[in-house]
Parts: sequence; C-alpha cells; structure tokens
Amino acid sequence: MGESAEYEILALKYGTRRGTRGEIFLNYHLYGEPDGPLDMDYYFWLVRGPESTVLVDCGFSPRGGSVRNRTQLARPVDALAALGTSPSDVDTVVVTHAHYDHIGNLGEFPDCDVVVAQDEVDFWSGPYAGKRQFAHSAEPSELTTLADVVDQGRATLVHKEADIAPGITVTKVGGHTPGQLVVVVRTSAGATMLASDALHYYEELELDRPFSSVEHLTDMYRGFDLIREFQQDPHTTVVAGHDPLVGDRFPRYRDDQDQLVWKVGP
Ligand SMILES: [Zn+2]
Repeated sequence: MGESAEYEILALKYGTRRGTRGEIFLNYHLYGEPDGPLDMDYYFWLVRGPESTVLVDCGFSPRGGSVRNRTQLARPVDALAALGTSPSDVDTVVVTHAHYDHIGNLGEFPDCDVVVAQDEVDFWSGPYAGKRQFAHSAEPSELTTLADVVDQGRATLVHKEADIAPGITVTKVGGHTPGQLVVVVRTSAGATMLASDALHYYEELELDRPFSSVEHLTDMYRGFDLIREFQQDPHTTVVAGHDPLVGDRFPRYRDDQDQLVWKVGP
C-alpha cells in the first residue's frame, strides 16, 4: 500500500430509514434472537487534503431515495457545499459499488475522475443485473451514467487494488456486490478504512453476521476477515457504511447538531 499523506476524513450523513434486525441480517432466524428495530443511516465520505480531494460515493438521488421510502436529510451536494466543497473541487469520486445509494449523484460530478472496480462495471452491464434480487438496488439511468463515464475514458477500472492518490488505496473485496471496494486512507496518525458496504454495521464484524443483501457470501465473510486483519494494527480506524453507531463512535466535525458530519480519521 502507498505512502501516507495528510487528509481530513469526514462521514456525511444524508439519509436514514427505520429497519428491523430481521431485515438487515441475512437469515436472522439462525441466531435464535428476537427481532427488534435497527435503523439504517446513509453516508458518503469526503477525504480532503492539500493536494487532492476524494469523494467516496455520492449518495442517492431524490428519486432513488423516494421510490424506496428513504428519508433524505440533505442533498449530498448541499451537504458538501456546507463544508465549503463544490463538485469542481473534487478530483476523484470513488464508486465503491453501483447501488442507487452510492452512485445517485454521479452526474453532479461531470469533470471528476471516477474509480470503480472492473467487476462492478461488468456485472451491471451483464446478463444478471436485471434479476429482481439485484435490480431492486440499482437505478437503470444511474447505471447508464456510470457506463457513460467509462465510455468517456474518465474511469480508472480497478482489478484488485490500486493507489488512487498519495496515501489512498482502494481494494476490491466483492461480497455485497461483485466489485465492492473498500478505501484505506493513510495519514501520519494512522490508517482509516472506509468500508462502505463491505461492512454496513459493526455488528457484522463483531458477531460474524452477514448483511441481507449479498451477491457472494464467501467473499462477504472473506471481506470481514480482511477488515479484521487491517485492525490488527493499533493505529487503525474502521468506518462502517450504514451504521448509526458512526454518529456515536466519532466526534462531530463541528459543534453543530444540525450538521450531520463526523470526523472519522485518526
Ligand atoms: Zn449497497
């Protein structure tokens, strides 16, 4: 993995929904525990340094959220603007995977480089993308936007691992989707993994419980192992992709309860 650089690493919460443990964990009945509420929060991540600004995912679109009854708390571009970052400030958008809640605003970043796994692009343009179990998590028009980015030559297609900026490495883990990426940001204070949907909830890792939406179960378990291996180093931080606990485990970026931004770096 590459050298370190100085970055501010922020998690921006832009949506939420009510859920239950039975919906969220795969085959929850296997655990013999009562069902109960478990909310799902929706984040994207901003990595800002003196030389590069990297956005990790870009949230769902108003339509993508509303047709699924998700509550949008802020438009992602507005949440970025509140932090003083406009789309033209962003050098690179990492698409950790092509689900509606991760690529819904890609069209707002027409000049950025985009990093995405080759397997992800291949899957969503292939014969199984239309199967209902997969298609319900994607928006055709947004997949077209992603395909256009690739056609325009703006995409870096990741096969296994790639250094995308000083100190920032993406690794394909698969599992949740065929090309699910995790992002590791190395600064002098330590390394932070933005796990996205390789780890929706910390509980998945702590209790070895896969998430309900899974394309390849063995790869999902293997992804948990990779995250645990990363955590062996004491100077590491793991940021889960949809867990309300992110709001408890990390400090607010500013002392402003209305601003749903947490500082998730070391
Ligand atoms: Zn997803």
